[in-house]
Amino acid sequence: MSTFSFLKKSGEAVFTDDFVTKAGELLVQYDGTQQNPQVGMVGVPLSKSSISHSGAALAPTTIRKMLNGFTTYSIEDDIDLAGNHVVDYGDILMHVTDIRESQQRISHTIEEILRHHKPSQLIILGGDHSISYPSITAFSKFHKVGVIQFDAHHDLRNLEDGGPSNGTPFRSLIESNIIEGKNLVQIGIRDFMNSKAYREYAREKGITVYSMKEVRQRSIKVIIHEAINGLKEQVDMIYVSVDVDVLDQAFAPGCPAIGPGGMDSETLIEAIEHLGACELVKGMDIVEIDPMVDFRDMTSKMAAWLLLTFLKARVKS
Ligand code: CA
Repeated sequence: MSTFSFLKKSGEAVFTDDFVTKAGELLVQYDGTQQNPQVGMVGVPLSKSSISHSGAALAPTTIRKMLNGFTTYSIEDDIDLAGNHVVDYGDILMHVTDIRESQQRISHTIEEILRHHKPSQLIILGGDHSISYPSITAFSKFHKVGVIQFDAHHDLRNLEDGGPSNGTPFRSLIESNIIEGKNLVQIGIRDFMNSKAYREYAREKGITVYSMKEVRQRSIKVIIHEAINGLKEQVDMIYVSVDVDVLDQAFAPGCPAIGPGGMDSETLIEAIEHLGACELVKGMDIVEIDPMVDFRDMTSKMAAWLLLTFLKARVKS
């Protein structure tokens, strides 16, 4: 035995256990060979498009890191996710200043991933909410897309008053005829965070809106199944967009638009569990996490948990 057998090498784990698989090990770097994976993942580090100051560009790296805080085993369902790899395509390189150019790169890269690598499901780590516009645009090249959006806000601002931002993605999608208003479902929209004009625009375009009051008063399971049933005759895929500001500030301190009156984490987890089990769901983004203002990475851990929940639901179904 060496004199230094208890000396920890730099970078080595302090505690190792052969029976524990860290959830971070589920991620496998894309090496140019993996075709048709069950689940792929890509990071979109863009937050220059945020209306308020945001460090959401740092979120993809932080969320990946947070996966190592969890194991791959679900005690609730007695399922071990070990072996259910996610092919990680890395982060899309953003332009230094040009938001429209960055959007083009996002749309182009996601389209390339879908065309050439064909993941059955793709998870997109934002970034701020502006990334959903180019991301959903890429999916629309292959599918008629319906969207289920979790958000405190409608994100239906017009583009004339400030260009493309994290307040405009869903209006941009509707006005570019990429999705139809009737195929957009917004869940968790809440008081004192939206203007009446956007509620009216939502009504005019036939968007289905579930306010936080409805989420509180009805079961999330019923709402999700109602949303899926409404979309399944109209579209051939569902894209789930999760803005973490749908959560109450107590559960998601690390996002630019924190506020009270939001969803609790169990409700969002349950919603993602139902959606992960739905075959029509082929894409999901998680956006608006700013690790710079987070507390003990609570919000990035939530994103990592949602990712694991989504994978578990897929394995279970
Ligand atoms: Ca949003």
